[in-house]
Amino acid sequence: MNLHEFQAKAAFRDAGIPVPEGRVVDHADAAPEAWRELGVERALVKAQVHSGGRGKAGGVTLVDSAETARDAAAGMLGTRLVTDQNAPEGQPVERVLLEPAADIAREFYFALLVDRSRECLTFVVSAEGGMDIETLAAERPEAILTLPVHPATGIMPFHGRRIAAALGLEGAAAKAVAQLATNTHALFSRTDAQLLEINPLVQTGDGELLALDAKLSLDDSAAYRQAALVELRDPNQRDPSEERAREHDLNYIPLDGSIGCMVNGAGLAMATMDLIQHHGGEPANFLDVGGGTTVERVTAAFKLILSDDSVQAVLVNIFGGIVRCDLIAEGIIAAIREVQVDVPVVVRLEGTNAEQGREALANSGLDVIPAADLDAAARAVVEAAA
Ligand code: GDP
Ligand code: MG
Repeated sequence: MNLHEFQAKAAFRDAGIPVPEGRVVDHADAAPEAWRELGVERALVKAQVHSGGRGKAGGVTLVDSAETARDAAAGMLGTRLVTDQNAPEGQPVERVLLEPAADIAREFYFALLVDRSRECLTFVVSAEGGMDIETLAAERPEAILTLPVHPATGIMPFHGRRIAAALGLEGAAAKAVAQLATNTHALFSRTDAQLLEINPLVQTGDGELLALDAKLSLDDSAAYRQAALVELRDPNQRDPSEERAREHDLNYIPLDGSIGCMVNGAGLAMATMDLIQHHGGEPANFLDVGGGTTVERVTAAFKLILSDDSVQAVLVNIFGGIVRCDLIAEGIIAAIREVQVDVPVVVRLEGTNAEQGREALANSGLDVIPAADLDAAARAVVEAAA
């Protein structure tokens, strides 16, 4: 789950990470008051959406009066901001953040993330801030320092020194960035984060470090012990179909193809998608209905799959290990009746009570194409979608 910039900055502030002192407003008429409270000559109005690339997309505007602050807020609030990271639909701007403009001397990139291949937290920093990190990684990888934190030792003083050296910071600024490393590491661990990114981290004209942007992504699997942060969830920022999937505990990811997939188990879902492609089709989604599949979830899954107009056929592939195939078949029948599926549905059931399940489907009077095994099922659904 992602936080908004202003929420991440509040968490940063509590963790001792320096951020500008800003104001959040949700309607343009509140902007002049917020401007006066800031008491500065120049400020930024920043659209709060769960996406980077706002600057280039017109979501960050420099203003120099109460009037221009109001105009900038009015121009953003109530619109959808489309960035190169959330295109084509964009995300709704329901709040903007007003912040004093910083006097930027140098811009850095600073991140802490879970490096899955190293199986540890890793700092990623660069003296070349302001540029997007993917481009930098592709064009000048030597300009990036990747610094793992050994889980047994935790963060050590040398981490701070290496980061300071990579950023070309000395003296008080080197101490400050070492403290920043310690504080981000503590915040990261405390919030069960997946990614903490400051782009840009800046050094101001008088030598202070300041996080001008803030991204904090949290691990959904730790939501149960992060109640206060879960409160900050903003469902409007999510793709509606992904949000519906979350409500029903389904792992759903829309893709570009025409064959809807409903599978229990992530591994089986991947294998199913591979087989569809092997037979010349393209999956329209990844969908893992999970282990304890119920009629409600099967129905919700069908609705999700069919909410995508490009779906020409659906493949249901269920392996009944813990769940019984006859119950799954009932779920499929109920779901097809309720949702009014008008594309071909190929069903492959295997495992506990598979025979009863297949019989129930055959006797249902519904137009379901049974398949004997997974390979045959994939072939049948590719044919049906053609
Ligand atoms: P993003 O585009 O979504 O990553 O949003 P950012 O918060 O990074 O803002 C985009 C850009 O606006 C930054 O890369 C900076 O160049 C610029 N910016 C942000 N805050 C300030 C500021 O206080 N002063 C100045 N001059 N520029 C800023
Ligand atoms: Mg940024």
